[in-house]
Amino acid sequence: MYKKRNVMQRAIGVDVGATKIASAIVTRDGVVQATRQTATRVEQGADMVIRRIADEINALMQQDGGEISGIGVGVPGLVNPEAGIVIDAANMRWQNIALREPLVALLDANLSVYVENDVRGAARGEFLFGAARGVNDFVLLTIGSGLGTAAMVNGQIIHGAYFFASEAGHFVIDPQGRACTCGLRGCAETVVSGRGLIANAREFLQRNYPSVLAPDALTTTAILDAARANDSAALAALEKMGECLGIVMASASAWLNPARIIIGGGLGNAAFDLLYAPARESYSQRVLRGSQANVEILRSQVESSAVGAAALAFR
Ligand SMILES: [Zn+2]
Repeated sequence: MYKKRNVMQRAIGVDVGATKIASAIVTRDGVVQATRQTATRVEQGADMVIRRIADEINALMQQDGGEISGIGVGVPGLVNPEAGIVIDAANMRWQNIALREPLVALLDANLSVYVENDVRGAARGEFLFGAARGVNDFVLLTIGSGLGTAAMVNGQIIHGAYFFASEAGHFVIDPQGRACTCGLRGCAETVVSGRGLIANAREFLQRNYPSVLAPDALTTTAILDAARANDSAALAALEKMGECLGIVMASASAWLNPARIIIGGGLGNAAFDLLYAPARESYSQRVLRGSQANVEILRSQVESSAVGAAALAFR
């Protein structure tokens, strides 16, 4: 028997966030053919949100009319992908929510649905169509409002015993550091994130670094703009973030020896040029000599999280 490869294999990716549900039809090459977006309305409860996810998928299939090979759904939280269950997603106020089975039942077509943590979905996206093409060992660090991390080892995205693997955002880098939203103190995320960058800038303003930034109206965009105009406080805030990012990268290297370290997320992409030098320097100072020579530090290439989710459905 010949095994015929479908040259136009396509999947639907759905990125479920606390504010919006973004979905897209994506080809095996990562080309986006159609997109939709709607409000999540978390306050209406999980059943209604799952119904809305199904409605979006059904609408995409209907408006497109072509063949779809599977559905990938990314959720911001702790996910058991084998069971299709969201164990905990704080922003969604979800705990132990069965997602895959009710979703399958609500779809107009009989399709496989893959549910996964959103950052792990994004990592699969980088592996199939982005900055991790061609390597089986890499780490993805997504910097947004928080710090999300995912790792692939020997061609497999790692989950660990209870799905908590590669939660490096809550790796403690400073025992005396800032309080984190998770309840711990000094997590990497308290410095490497949107919130962290703003806290860094506030710190340097309090230390009277010259700056055009207004302490009571700090935003990440204002800090990046100021840094590009050589503002001392903004540059120091980014340097501190880059240094801490380098520590996270060094710990990832010590454990996993990735060939590539990919920086993504809204802020990670926007600030990549400003973070690269301090992160690389901090990283170089903290990894075993010889282990860093061939490690590439790259900007993420999959910008839409729905595209990453679609990658979950390509097996
Ligand atoms: Zn934390």
